[in-house]
Amino acid sequence: MTALSTISSVYGPVDSWRVGKSLGIDLIMNTSTCSFNCTYCQLGFIQDITKERKLFISTEKIINDFNLSKWKEADIITFSGSGEPTLAINLGEVITKIKHITDKPIAILTNGTLLINQEVRNNVLNADLISVKLDAPDDKTLKEINRPADGVTLHSIILGIKELKSDIKDLNKSTKLQIQIMFMPQNKNQIESLAKLLNEIKPDEVALNTPTRPYPAGWDIITRGAHGEDTKKIKFPIKPLKTLSLEEAKNIENKLRELTNLQIISVYKN
Ligand code: SF4
Repeated sequence: MTALSTISSVYGPVDSWRVGKSLGIDLIMNTSTCSFNCTYCQLGFIQDITKERKLFISTEKIINDFNLSKWKEADIITFSGSGEPTLAINLGEVITKIKHITDKPIAILTNGTLLINQEVRNNVLNADLISVKLDAPDDKTLKEINRPADGVTLHSIILGIKELKSDIKDLNKSTKLQIQIMFMPQNKNQIESLAKLLNEIKPDEVALNTPTRPYPAGWDIITRGAHGEDTKKIKFPIKPLKTLSLEEAKNIENKLRELTNLQIISVYKN
């Protein structure tokens, strides 16, 4: 088996329906590590469910890997990878260093659980796009879909997102705040309560998603960027997940638009 230290922390570019050609940065690479354990996670069952921030990979290795990568072919640089990127304490430092190399836009995909922490918000504020996951309108659904680390509540997540929105405004940043909702059997009938939260947060954009990547029976570094044909390379059995029908997705999109008046994009094309 290849040692993780010999694998690049930078992967892709991979095609993303939301942002085009996306170069992935994996700040974790230490098994799958996240403050959530989503039932649909492309990494499979999360091996280290934690809220504790730490250094996983040195900034030096990440910048070195970045320089050796195909970053020039990417439309956007996305922090995602083998878990929750805000768990890495060098997230802010890596963003600053990459901004010295290129002016390509930077996106962070986060579950929002650590945004309550001012230091984490300071780390993400230099990104051009922050996409925050919000699948559940209450703690019961949060536990069912996202299975968070102990102590994470919907209230703390919403508070963190609102604080981030205020920071963006107060500091006059051009950072776009996107809320991403993964629709599952557990939340597809909770549109009104999700719309209520969206109206409180008032993000710049809402991205509607449904699990298009399979759920692997184990973690393998390749799962961080695997989709389409790549999923055949995952060494564990994979399970396709229940997705919404086009009709259901369109109904949800229309209803959310009617209830929120927000800018909405969807993985489902017409
Ligand atoms: S937040 Fe993302 S990385 Fe974490 S378990 Fe959910 S889908 Fe996986």
